[in-house]
Amino acid sequence: MVILFNSPNDDAGEFEAWRLPLKAADSAIDLRFWPDVGRVEDIEYALVWLPKPGDMQRYPNLKVIFNLGAGVDKLLADKTLPFHVPIVRLVDPGLTAGMTEYVLLHTLRHHRGQHVLDQQQKQRVWRQKLFPLAKDRKVGILGLGVLGADAAAKLSALDFDVAGWSRQPKSLPGVKSYHGEEGLKAFLARTEILVCLLPLTPETRGILDAKLLAQLPKGACLINAGRGGHLVDADLIAALDSGHIAHATLDVFHQEPLPADHPFWVHPQVTVTPHVASLTQPETAIPVVLEGIKLHKAGRPIPNTVDLKKGY
Ligand code: NDP
Repeated sequence: MVILFNSPNDDAGEFEAWRLPLKAADSAIDLRFWPDVGRVEDIEYALVWLPKPGDMQRYPNLKVIFNLGAGVDKLLADKTLPFHVPIVRLVDPGLTAGMTEYVLLHTLRHHRGQHVLDQQQKQRVWRQKLFPLAKDRKVGILGLGVLGADAAAKLSALDFDVAGWSRQPKSLPGVKSYHGEEGLKAFLARTEILVCLLPLTPETRGILDAKLLAQLPKGACLINAGRGGHLVDADLIAALDSGHIAHATLDVFHQEPLPADHPFWVHPQVTVTPHVASLTQPETAIPVVLEGIKLHKAGRPIPNTVDLKKGY
């Protein structure tokens, strides 16, 4: 079985971290490291992360494309993709756990005013302030899919007052569900800490704009771990400068790496992280990919196959 591994990271160490466990799981696996793919006719399955546009159309016998991340926005932007082949996005316990840790870490930092305390330390200021209990802190998650639902459940376990917004209504223990345009208004009006875990689609591009931010209560905080394309950067900066938004934690950007002259780097109310909210770990992703191949061989549908109409 010949599998293509195509990732922009040309680190041979990363390739070996995939090749060795795959080989150990099934000695018949021949993993080819792009661009040394050998005969293009041999390739049956592809494990990809941000492949070069146009590359996926080169393999006439390709059966499934496994995207090595949860977001498929960049992959689907390649209009030469063989769209008749199932495209499967990554849902694995490690990726989910990583994102939930990120959301918990930064929600707690906002909740406890840690950014203000960091500034105080720099100025040697000793000032105490009461903060509300978690049960009185309203956290709202845009996107209650695999990642949003897990983060919501863990925030709820910490006693936060959690709500989520999605396309379809959800029934999740301890999480208030909002949906649609009308639901979004009510959801935003109650949200003190807003977490974006939406996929980037034509419908969600630019959703974090001046109009949306204005509907949050004054002093709200934002955590964007979805995609940079969700955010209108200038609108956020205006909302931060006016004091309407107290702080923003941003993991994803229009351009990555974030250009050195971007104002987010130095804005006192912005925390920048370099798209590390959750990175794919071979240890937890490989069993998911192998199970997907097994299902495909058995002629069964593979979970988390992308719905091309919805774009996620
Ligand atoms: P899912 O597909 O499981 O969930 C997406 C959620 O968004 C669903 O609840 C869906 O609603 C909702 N949604 C989509 N479009 C709309 C819309 N137009 N209006 C309202 N709700 C909408 O995705 P995941 O949870 O697995 O991943 C989410 C995103 O997180 C990825 O697409 C990626 O961009 C980002 N990500 C970022 C990482 C990082 O390191 N920063 C790492 C991994 C992922 P419904 O359930 O009703 O369909």
